[in-house]
Amino acid sequence: MGFRTRQIHAGVTPDPTTGAILTPIHQTTTYVQPSVDEYMSKGYSYSRSANPTVQALELKLADLEGGVDCACFGTGMSAIHAVMLAFLNAGDHAIVSDVAYGGTYRLCTKILKRFGIDFTFADTANADDVAAAVRDNTQLILTETPANPTMKCSDIAAISEISKQSGAVHAVDNTFLTPYYQLPFELGADISIHSTTKYMDGHNATVGGAVICNNDEHAEAVRFIQNSTGTIMSPQVAWLTLQGCKTLSVRMDYQSASAMEIATFLEAHPKVQQVMYPGLESFPQYELATRQASGYGAMLWFEVKGGLAAGKKLMDNIEVWTLAENLGSVESLITHPVTMTHADVEKAERDRVGIIDGLVRASVGLEDTDDLISALETALDQV
Ligand SMILES: *Cc1c(COP(=O)(O)O)cnc(C)c1O
Repeated sequence: MGFRTRQIHAGVTPDPTTGAILTPIHQTTTYVQPSVDEYMSKGYSYSRSANPTVQALELKLADLEGGVDCACFGTGMSAIHAVMLAFLNAGDHAIVSDVAYGGTYRLCTKILKRFGIDFTFADTANADDVAAAVRDNTQLILTETPANPTMKCSDIAAISEISKQSGAVHAVDNTFLTPYYQLPFELGADISIHSTTKYMDGHNATVGGAVICNNDEHAEAVRFIQNSTGTIMSPQVAWLTLQGCKTLSVRMDYQSASAMEIATFLEAHPKVQQVMYPGLESFPQYELATRQASGYGAMLWFEVKGGLAAGKKLMDNIEVWTLAENLGSVESLITHPVTMTHADVEKAERDRVGIIDGLVRASVGLEDTDDLISALETALDQV
């Protein structure tokens, strides 16, 4: 069945006791066992290990992504952490996109490094750079594409080929495009990761994460971490995310079309130095973005002439758009990564990978496109 049908129905069946059309919020710690011999006969023991509401979301996301299993987590960061714990041991090496969510960089450099795991932050936009970074002990390649916040794209198929040759697991952070636009498994990846906080929820209501695996062995390793470290998603969050997922394609279509119009407007504006949106023909990896995904998404960034000072003025004064962290929600958000989402990435590293001080990140929401554009026009007039 098609994506639009599956985003609504996959993983969800009417409640057998009441017929409730929505999966109930199973707010319970434990599950009564009929007898010692029948322990786990209904499939549940304790809500750290499994919960029916969370499971409904896990089934839905596994289906949408085309994987064999999904494990949901309390945040996107705990999902990424689980993948690292599942596939890396002391003495191992991992390759991570040099442009990635700031929290991913912090997790590697400030925490996992302490446990004897070595990281190379490679330019994953250049597959040769990834191949050159592979060592005998490379166990994991984590590619974020398009990357937060520069929108740099990486060739999932080429990197999957490298990971297969080296015996490393290839995980893709698919948060920006979601399975509606990008299917990492069809391109050879082993694992797809989401911050469900973003487009899956879509309403600025929750924080959550998901790891979808393409084979049972990987799924078992991730499930073991989910239960052992106790980072499962809560049933309330799973319930809200289940509702969000049902409109994913509709939101993505509108928000992406809007982003295209906004990027085009910005590109032509005399006060804009540069704009990066994968759907613009001027985007350096337009060909790759067009080849490996069926849409360009609703994230873009731009730099105002006058750099940081002008950008700050715009962000502080703009109407309709909200200055806030997060992305992918129905509310259009504007973020300054250097002081907000990527503040923990050292300046030298930011400069090296192109996270410039004047970068204004925009997450296009569901408001009228015309209102979003006129708000930008007014704010640009004032800088
Ligand atoms: C937000 C984000 C994360 C982290 O997710 P949280 O839910 O905030 O923990 C990871 N990767 C990407 C690409 C993100 O945008």
